[in-house]
Amino acid sequence: MFLQGKTAIVTGSTSGIGLAMARALAGEGATVVLNGFGDTAEIEAVRAELDAIYDAADMTKPDEIAAMVERTVAATGSVDIVVNNAGIQHVAPIADFPVDRYDAIVAIVMSSAWHLARAALPHMRQHGWGRIISTGSAHSLVASPNKSAYVMAKHGLAGMTKAVALEAATDGVTVNMVSPGYVWTPLVENQIPDTMRARGLTREQVMNDVLLAAQPTKRFVTPDEVAALVIFLCRDEARSITGANLSVDGGWTAA
Ligand code: NAD
Repeated sequence: MFLQGKTAIVTGSTSGIGLAMARALAGEGATVVLNGFGDTAEIEAVRAELDAIYDAADMTKPDEIAAMVERTVAATGSVDIVVNNAGIQHVAPIADFPVDRYDAIVAIVMSSAWHLARAALPHMRQHGWGRIISTGSAHSLVASPNKSAYVMAKHGLAGMTKAVALEAATDGVTVNMVSPGYVWTPLVENQIPDTMRARGLTREQVMNDVLLAAQPTKRFVTPDEVAALVIFLCRDEARSITGANLSVDGGWTAA
């Protein structure tokens, strides 16, 4: 319970990887701010289970992101850990890529992280301790076809991680990215039909020949494996790890 007394905002934590991170952080005693969309009753059940706070801030709206930070500080006294995790995906060749999907991906995956770091860092500096962690992706390091907006946004997030790490280097605040390969979550499940259409493949072919083809371990990463690395980054032993992009990708980006 080494995070007792600390507050952690995890964006996009109503589902998938973010939910696993929220559970892990709460399991170490942190007060967790859940964020994201979904079924009201399901969100309330998780909120109650983790004795957490739920904040519905929309990651496409900078003023809502700043307001979430202020509400969190008002309720708990601090924002010690932020995890920029909210994300969406859209799969299409660039010439057919809907502009509104491009705008949404860049806003949610990349810009929201900048706005959240901007709002949270002054509070972390006040306490001389903080952790800014972003969920990157193997796509922060390498590309795949038909994911131009996502690959671009994740590479941008990697740049933000490095730049803010340098700015915060002497403040007790580390800034890092954890970059999973394919994790079995609704985000991956939902892109299977689009990839089937875009590449003319069956569901099985998409899973084995597209998704797991890139992953030498031939198994999906689990949300808990990614969450465990976030917990390690919050430990004092990890205080020299900053500006890093840590892969959890079954060897994908080693190939
Ligand atoms: P998911 O679809 O299970 O969860 C996405 C979360 O983001 C949900 O809680 C959703 O409500 C939230 N969200 C979406 N739009 C939002 C908005 N405008 N404001 C606030 N919240 C919003 O997906 P996941 O697979 O758990 O993805 C989480 C993160 O992990 C994303 O950044 C994704 O890019 C990244 N990632 C996923 C994989 C994978 O294979 N699943 C691989 C690498 C990186």
